[in-house]
Amino acid sequence: MYNKENIFAKIIRKEINADIIYENQDIIAFKDITPVANIHVLVIPKGEYTSYSDFIANADDNEIASFFKSVKHVIELLNIEKNGYRLLTNHGDDAGQTVEHYHVHIIAGEKLESLNARSKE
Ligand code: 5GP
Repeated sequence: MYNKENIFAKIIRKEINADIIYENQDIIAFKDITPVANIHVLVIPKGEYTSYSDFIANADDNEIASFFKSVKHVIELLNIEKNGYRLLTNHGDDAGQTVEHYHVHIIAGEKLESLNARSKE
């Protein structure tokens, strides 16, 4: 169940501040408060979706397509296509999702640690 008091809902309503780098009628992109790399931006739809699975199951096709095109627009604004970036979404407990409003992390701006860390153990 979507909780209207989650922190990203408050950012959408401008009840709390965020370092917004892009906004349109459907999405907001803002800097993560605890960046894990030089560039760490969150992109969220303004619609009430708890996670990726909820978004894909319940948003209409236009909204889904428009959201991912907006993510690409933010990537262009950040000027990170040439050097590279990572897109990441956590869903649920095992992934460690902490905010139950769907969001995509854009992580970039430096060489990122391999996702294959387990194979190095
Ligand atoms: P998750 O863990 O759900 O995938 O990602 C949630 C992200 O939201 C975390 O990376 C966390 O640092 C970020 N975050 C949590 N609270 C705030 C906040 O109040 N402002 C901003 N800008 N980011 C936040």
